[in-house]
Amino acid sequence: MAPGPAGRTPVFERRTTDGGGGGGMDGGSGGGSAEKVVALTFDADMTADQGPRAASGERFDNPELVASLRRLKVPSTVFMTGRWAEEYPAQAKAIGADPLFEVANHSYSHHAFSSPCYGLPVVEKNAMTRDVERAFTAFRKAGVRNVVPYFRFPGGCYDDTALRALAPANVTAVQWDVVSGDAFATDAGAVAEQVLDGVRPGSLVVMHCTRSAAPATEAAVRRIVPELRERGYRFVKVSELMEDSA
Ligand SMILES: [Zn+2]
Repeated sequence: MAPGPAGRTPVFERRTTDGGGGGGMDGGSGGGSAEKVVALTFDADMTADQGPRAASGERFDNPELVASLRRLKVPSTVFMTGRWAEEYPAQAKAIGADPLFEVANHSYSHHAFSSPCYGLPVVEKNAMTRDVERAFTAFRKAGVRNVVPYFRFPGGCYDDTALRALAPANVTAVQWDVVSGDAFATDAGAVAEQVLDGVRPGSLVVMHCTRSAAPATEAAVRRIVPELRERGYRFVKVSELMEDSA
């Protein structure tokens, strides 16, 4: 992965179009993937202050989803918050130990790196790198392997200040072109339809691995995966998408 311009965190972004292909980074490289590959990514969200909610029974994990991805043999990338790894260390470790998955960083706190961002509390500029490193530390403590140096901004929210502030963290920010709409969705069919409508060769799809906030995701995945395979798609991790567009 090429370094970002002038001391900024590089951003990997898919810009697929209906014309087929597209994609590439920083508006450059053009071409993109003509191959029918698609990356499903799952954000394992838990916010720094949600400990009491977890303690009172709210489930921020989704073991059924992970089991389905294994059963369906879908290589995928999990963007995990450090707080999630602390709450579910055994699951975090098991996901990281499975070559089907790679674990990327979704911050420690799941606070916003630019504002406004869906009402999330904001991380101060000089605390951004520390927050990201704290998540990597939480992964190490939980024994998570297959950790990749990719970062997803909470809510996908960032600006130039955040890209500069995060440069010392040496991560590549990963955005997406297909929003699954699984957050707070209860209709798995609608989520599946939105994904199936949006996917193009080289697409990067954002979904969630958090039952309480995305209860329909597992059922949606069971519809999406066979249908995309029927259409000739192969599932890849983000790292493979990056190789293809390098
Ligand atoms: Zn998130």
